[in-house]
Amino acid sequence: MVPVAAPPIADGTVITERDRIVWVGPRAHAPKGGRDEALGERSILTPGLVNAHTHLELTMMRGFLEDLPFFDWVRTLTRVRAEVVRPEDARDAALLGVAEGLRSGITTFGDTGDSSAPFDALRSLGARGIAYREVFGPDPAEAAAALARLQASVAEMRKDATPLVRVGVSPHAPYSVSNALFSAVATWAAKEALPVAVHLAESAEEDALVQRGEGPFADFLRSRGIAVARRAPGSVPLLRAVGLVRPDTLVIHVVRAGAEDIRAIANAGCGVAHCPVSNAKLGHGAAHLGAFVAAGARVGLGSDSMASNNEMDILAEARVALLQQRVRAAAEGSAPLSARAIFRLATLGGAEALRLDAEVGSLEVGKQADLAVFSVDLAGAPAPDPVAALVFAPARARVTRVIVAGVERVQEGRVQGFDPAVAGRVDACAARLAEWRRAQLAR
Ligand SMILES: [Zn+2]
Repeated sequence: MVPVAAPPIADGTVITERDRIVWVGPRAHAPKGGRDEALGERSILTPGLVNAHTHLELTMMRGFLEDLPFFDWVRTLTRVRAEVVRPEDARDAALLGVAEGLRSGITTFGDTGDSSAPFDALRSLGARGIAYREVFGPDPAEAAAALARLQASVAEMRKDATPLVRVGVSPHAPYSVSNALFSAVATWAAKEALPVAVHLAESAEEDALVQRGEGPFADFLRSRGIAVARRAPGSVPLLRAVGLVRPDTLVIHVVRAGAEDIRAIANAGCGVAHCPVSNAKLGHGAAHLGAFVAAGARVGLGSDSMASNNEMDILAEARVALLQQRVRAAAEGSAPLSARAIFRLATLGGAEALRLDAEVGSLEVGKQADLAVFSVDLAGAPAPDPVAALVFAPARARVTRVIVAGVERVQEGRVQGFDPAVAGRVDACAARLAEWRRAQLAR
């Protein structure tokens, strides 16, 4: 058992009552009584994993936009969402995304979405999370209208919020949101106590736009008649200027951040969603994870969407994050992170980034009963360190059971209440996307 807040316990036991953990410790000392289930040899019991950043409604885009430059990737994604993806496609994609996440041991999702589909999917499959509703608007003249639309969407979603699934807002990114809209959302979200998520400091193209008013995003905005000027010395200073460097903000990516930016993020208590596979796959680089951790930032791991990562697997993210960090640490002569430190980010760190750590992220008395059980195939490893086994050989860890708030959501690897027909419909949507793209390329 890996409690995360304490060292691993061989033959550990967790006792739950309804939705809470009431006892954690060695099996030999566990109080008797109640239903008792042995998980068996080669099983590792952990807190449910936390995916601090994803886009569940884009699950149909696995493999859709391979090997495109970032601007073309963003533009194609935006166009296909507007021209091909229907509301029912987004609903199916979000359900399939939650199911894939649960099946890989994720119990808490930080999702940013342009519809209520992720929010609905999380609730319907019994997962936990924050659904950050996205808002776009690069033209400052449209800020008031964009804010009004966001307010209406959020009001609808909030009627159905539950203790497990809450609502937040996501002014998307500096290249898709004007300073006026950022500021308006910042003021309103603070008044409404809504958590905020922002894609930040992700790419060289974003830097060019923010720092110099140049590059493909600047050209595109000008082509639409939007005035573009240098906005700030960097994306973190821009976020500070619009009032969003604050504790209820989750900043996503922050690949292109200097020491001062990292200190500002950590000191303000912002959450950080580190998405190593997405950032590497899109060619953006790697956020300076060691520096964020050393600065005491609230860092979690995120898979990002299927459009930039072909799977949702937080253990796989942890492995890549740790290997990248150790390569960088070796080059810089700084300290490498341990497997336990990275596993902490995949659980409690993610909960901290989303400010849900009072409830989830570790196996501790009083916390929510969010549990994952991994069965590990480690022939030839007679006494493996369970954390090293999960972090360094994630492909050998199979999720057998997942419990959220005391309710079993994955049994024998199967997601409870998930309609298998959804996967077929997502496949059909993916085929329509591919056809649309072929037609575009043939032009
Ligand atoms: Zn994202």
